[in-house]
Amino acid sequence: MTERTVPPPARNMTADAVSGTAAAAAAAAQRWRGLPVSERAALVAQVWAELYRRRQELAKVAHSETCKPIVEFSAMELAPVGLIVKYFTSNARRILGDQPACVPWVMLNKKAYVRYAPRGVVGLITPWNFPFLIPFGDAVPAMIAGNAVLVKPSEWTSRTMQWTADAVRGTGLLPEGLFSVVTGDGSVGREVLKASDMVLFTGSTRTGRSIAQEAGALLKPVVLELGGKHPMIVLNDAALPRAAKAAVWGAFANCGQVCVGVERAFVEEEIHDAFVEAVRREMQRLRQGLSGEGVELGRLIFPPQFERVMDHLEDARAKGAAVFGGEVVDADNLLIRPALVTGATPEMKVMSEETFGPVLPVMKVSCAEEAVRLSNSGPYGLAASVWTTDLDRAERLAAMVEAGMVGVNEVLSHYAAPSLPFGGVKSSGLGRRHSDEGMRMFCHAQSVLVHEWPAGMADPWWFPYEGRKSRLVEWILRLG
Ligand code: NAD
Repeated sequence: MTERTVPPPARNMTADAVSGTAAAAAAAAQRWRGLPVSERAALVAQVWAELYRRRQELAKVAHSETCKPIVEFSAMELAPVGLIVKYFTSNARRILGDQPACVPWVMLNKKAYVRYAPRGVVGLITPWNFPFLIPFGDAVPAMIAGNAVLVKPSEWTSRTMQWTADAVRGTGLLPEGLFSVVTGDGSVGREVLKASDMVLFTGSTRTGRSIAQEAGALLKPVVLELGGKHPMIVLNDAALPRAAKAAVWGAFANCGQVCVGVERAFVEEEIHDAFVEAVRREMQRLRQGLSGEGVELGRLIFPPQFERVMDHLEDARAKGAAVFGGEVVDADNLLIRPALVTGATPEMKVMSEETFGPVLPVMKVSCAEEAVRLSNSGPYGLAASVWTTDLDRAERLAAMVEAGMVGVNEVLSHYAAPSLPFGGVKSSGLGRRHSDEGMRMFCHAQSVLVHEWPAGMADPWWFPYEGRKSRLVEWILRLG
């Protein structure tokens, strides 16, 4: 019998412990915000260098609670964090520097600019699918922007962040408490929302909605990075080998537990059968297991995902689809074979709800326009992709797709390009991480207006409001 690899969920910290940790983080933020941006960026880069030096230990901890292949951890978690650190440490001074603003001509004796001031304590409430990339990747720009972070990892994958917090503390480079981790389930997440000055939440649309409601009552800024249902639109003239390999990697990387992962493919009639055949061939080569050299596909991470994937496959079969793969290998360890669903239709759960597992449903369509219409029909709008050798057409179609991120002959790579905003539309979220915009969201924009000259004179629109004043105002308006 194989050993059970799914750890129990982390125990809940008390509300007092969360608020105490948040208070220490707020005190650390006060000291930290006084440092110049370049110094903060240099310290965060040094912390990252130390984590990177200890990457094998880190990978082992992440593997112990997810069973994801070590190579995949390096490629999909460590490497993107390296790119995020590079982008934000190189660009922070430009992004966070005061931005001069123009003023109307009647204020030409005044200076205007926008200053980006840190918010204080940023709560990061995160999911289990990328236990290092998501929390630490977001902590980097938040800290360089002058904030402390209070991370609440998923209760199913908390060890990775606990290890990271210990390692960060061990460097002695950051003020004590600047990077803090609290553990537990959704009730601890709610405490984090109360104790933070803003929250960046990454998780399901359902939880995102409830956090948005609570944040509304508390008037707390929140950014929501939620679920997706990536439609892959494959046109007749697509380059088949790349499209088929992309479908397999896009649907099955991280065992299909990727918010921007391919969740459905709409394939034009002429290429449909060849595409399905090429995907099947690629799938047969995949090596699956709980650990070991050369393994490409691990297990599901979150126990309820097992039932969900089974339910979606059963529903597809019951509604007439053919399922290739999808067999249970080891139920205790949440290990199932990747599944290709052909003859899929929009009524099936695999096509309309987020599956978040190793399932690729394929539907034949008569034309690109039908594919775009079907892609846009659901509630999600996170990532999408268009596959064709006609790049002009692809970019025109991409503009018609309702998604925060679109790839043209490209899949799953947006996260690794931190200059690009990352986020969704419709039920996939509010706001963006990454990019200049994503770093500035960790700040509030303070508008500064400075009266420069003449020092002692009142402005003409101040009191007294005598007769001449209306004529003066009209004259100002006429001149624009
Ligand atoms: P989830 O919503 O169940 O949980 C996410 C986090 O929120 C966990 O830490 C959980 O403990 C916490 N939480 C739960 N209820 C809460 C509440 N009421 N208040 C505060 N915190 C609460 O999501 P999950 O199952 O961990 O993650 C899978 C989902 O995450 C998928 O839908 C996936 O698409 C999405 N996701 C989105 C992105 C993105 O960038 N858009 C990235 C990764 C994952």
